[in-house]
Amino acid sequence: MSFWEKFKEDFNKQVENEMEKSEQRKKQKKIEKQEYKNRIKEMKKENKYKKKQMDIEGIAYCPKCKSTSIQYIERRKRLSLGRAVVGTALFSPLGGAVGAVTSKKYKGFIKCLNCGHKWKM
Ligand SMILES: [Zn+2]
Repeated sequence: MSFWEKFKEDFNKQVENEMEKSEQRKKQKKIEKQEYKNRIKEMKKENKYKKKQMDIEGIAYCPKCKSTSIQYIERRKRLSLGRAVVGTALFSPLGGAVGAVTSKKYKGFIKCLNCGHKWKM
């Protein structure tokens, strides 16, 4: 066998090998894709169930990832408190009540500790 013949044979073997490998990779990818799809499906199902359950129980959850690890962040707490104090000082006692009512407008927001999504109450 000449060098070129051997080279050609080796080359063909390599090509065959590569083709087989790529075929296997394709198959593997297909399987992974299917598994991924199934996982998403399962997650969606679970989330739907979780959402229903939490809606029934009145649990606050992230609308984005349905996580219940959320944090309530009160916005302008100091400002509204200051308003109430100022109101009390200026128009006491009625002013204090007005200030307190106004402060109720400044509701905080909720931050999801899981995905960082923020939304209002
Ligand atoms: Zn989230």
